[in-house]
Amino acid sequence: MAEARIIDGKARANALQEGVGRAVAALVADHQVTPGLAVVLVGDDPASHIYVRNKNRRTRELGMESISHNLQADTPEGELLALVGNLNADRGVNGILVQLPLPQQIDANAVIDAIDPAKDVDGLNAVNAGRLAAGRFEDALIPCTPQGCLVLIKDAVSELAGLNAVVVGRSNLVGKPVAQLLLAEHCTVTLTHSRTRDLAGEIARADILVAAAGRARMIPGEWIGPGATVIDVGINRIEGEDGKSRLVGDVDFETARHVAGAITPVPGGVGPMTIACLLRNTVIAACRQHGIAPAGALAV
Ligand code: NAD
Repeated sequence: MAEARIIDGKARANALQEGVGRAVAALVADHQVTPGLAVVLVGDDPASHIYVRNKNRRTRELGMESISHNLQADTPEGELLALVGNLNADRGVNGILVQLPLPQQIDANAVIDAIDPAKDVDGLNAVNAGRLAAGRFEDALIPCTPQGCLVLIKDAVSELAGLNAVVVGRSNLVGKPVAQLLLAEHCTVTLTHSRTRDLAGEIARADILVAAAGRARMIPGEWIGPGATVIDVGINRIEGEDGKSRLVGDVDFETARHVAGAITPVPGGVGPMTIACLLRNTVIAACRQHGIAPAGALAV
């Protein structure tokens, strides 16, 4: 069996961002609309700070407005809900993202559901999850990482209809929405999780495998069918033999690359797609809020 094609998520994300940047330029020139993304961070989790800084930088690079709110770790829920209410009402803000996880005194679901569904660029509130489940793509905002997975899968596989897709992990953030997207593409979808009886047997039947369990290298190459397209969402930090920590996926890349047809590396696969899809969602949200048809570059 030939070596798998390594899917370059970084290059794909750059191409996607260029398209989003062109759409922003057209919105500014033709409609005098500058899309605005508000990112709210509560507390001082170092990883969250890095994510938020990257999001702000990329937003500005594409010519969009970036609005940042950094709140103290002990912020009461009511204060955060009031801020979300203000951002909902602010016409200069087209997308709102509240960085997760939130401190324990705050009910994350209450906050997520307080975001205006039209501005919910993370696609996590119940209205957008429902629209996605109902196949209402014209008014849903689709979660960013699942959207990124679908872009990579569509690049790798010319005809998805009828293929067996196996998703490992059933979170609201990744597993469930990925399964919905693949179902909408007419795949036969199996959604597996920690209680699945024969995970290896399910994975063996996959033409497309999306791994989103958050378990370092739990899927060995021998579980994967020859030629399968493997999308590894997992980001797990492990200690290397040299004592330094490094990131690995849920799939054992070194064994899987000899069996799969195409495979995403970790890092450099799905990860870079997430921010690109967030920026795309923000521009889609801005277009809808202004009654403007989104440009072709924004189609999923
Ligand atoms: P989660 O913890 O919310 O969900 C994990 C899911 O995996 C659960 O449904 C659980 O049932 C399942 N699972 C756990 N152990 C399993 C096992 N042994 N066998 C089968 N299923 C098992 O995690 P999440 O938020 O969905 O994230 C999953 C992974 O994706 C994490 O590593 C996370 O860091 C990564 N992630 C990456 C991006 C990105 O941008 N690339 C974005 C979000 C999440």
